[in-house]
Amino acid sequence: MQDFILGSRPEIYFGSGYVKDMVSALGRYGNRFLLVFGKKSVFENGAYGRITSAIKEKNLEWEELWGVEPNPQVGKVREGIDLVRRKGIDCVLGIGGGSVLDTVKAIAVGVPYHGDVWDFFSGKSKPKEMLPYGCVVTTVGSGSEVSRGCVLSNGDIKRSQSHDFFRPKFSLVDLKAMECLSTDQILPGCMDILVHVTERYFSDTPHIEYTDALCLVTVKHIVRNMKRIKRHEEWEEAVKEIAYLSIIAQEGYLASGRRTDGACHQLEHVLSGVYGVSHTVGIALVFFNWARKVSAYKREKFEKLFESMFGKEVEAEEGIKLLSAFYDEMGLTCQYGIKGDPKKAAQNLAEVCVEECGRSTVGNFMELDQETIAGIYAECLKGNGGRFE
Ligand SMILES: [Zn+2]
Repeated sequence: MQDFILGSRPEIYFGSGYVKDMVSALGRYGNRFLLVFGKKSVFENGAYGRITSAIKEKNLEWEELWGVEPNPQVGKVREGIDLVRRKGIDCVLGIGGGSVLDTVKAIAVGVPYHGDVWDFFSGKSKPKEMLPYGCVVTTVGSGSEVSRGCVLSNGDIKRSQSHDFFRPKFSLVDLKAMECLSTDQILPGCMDILVHVTERYFSDTPHIEYTDALCLVTVKHIVRNMKRIKRHEEWEEAVKEIAYLSIIAQEGYLASGRRTDGACHQLEHVLSGVYGVSHTVGIALVFFNWARKVSAYKREKFEKLFESMFGKEVEAEEGIKLLSAFYDEMGLTCQYGIKGDPKKAAQNLAEVCVEECGRSTVGNFMELDQETIAGIYAECLKGNGGRFE
């Protein structure tokens, strides 16, 4: 086990009943707020009404920034930074899913910085301070409400950065809003949570049996709840547990004392940067094809994972078949199609992926060279659906 630091944690308000408490926490950071949103779905799921009424009750003032898209762009972040500076905003609150929360994180570190915010993502600079910010999370998956990660795009270049300043001061998990999501929206988000855990689990650090066991039991309950959600068995309770597991996956304990992997997310960021697919759909796609390739070399660790996921001892090859059947059951896709030659597209993606990683291989658990990465992308893109372009 390695030495590690566990930094400060956000205050978590788990459930829509805590809106007033969360707004009181907001009041500790000033009087003027910027609320950041994606689409109008915050009206349909009631989040907009719940939050703004509580803010009004406290006699606090706010401005609004709308239109954050999936795979959020630096342009929207710059717009937010400008608004905060012009209006004398004290604190930012993101209301939505992972893309809104990533935008808010980047605004918060960009406001006190004199250069351009993209410098933090191009590697030119590191954040040294931040404007206080909080989150109201209305979708499941990203774990952005507790994570120290932030993903931002500049055109089709997508970069991920990790820093303690990217952890919010406080977060509200809006379960009422989550109940408005459809099963088909939730299940890909669950795969994102699962991969956040497996990227911690797939480690070659010795003597990490305890955190391995924590990862495996977390995976077991993600799969259990995905099945309950798909079958509409105690649906609301299952969504609630998934929202909690999303926090557990990202808050830090599962990653403590070990070298983690990250290959699936690195491959996915290039894929969604180029094809604009949502992160949750992209990560399900990459994970399956990565697992199929890597399980042939790292059998034992995969066999333990499959035992936790599917409740029986299996060899790696059998585990991949069960994973494929699980994808079918959950309505998840492990192959997409594109117009044009998938092999050529895969080569291009692999070249970008290795370049973005800044070394000749990607991943720590199994180091993937450019040719292996191209092979994984080619499998991802060889479906007939023509869904990406
Ligand atoms: Zn993710």
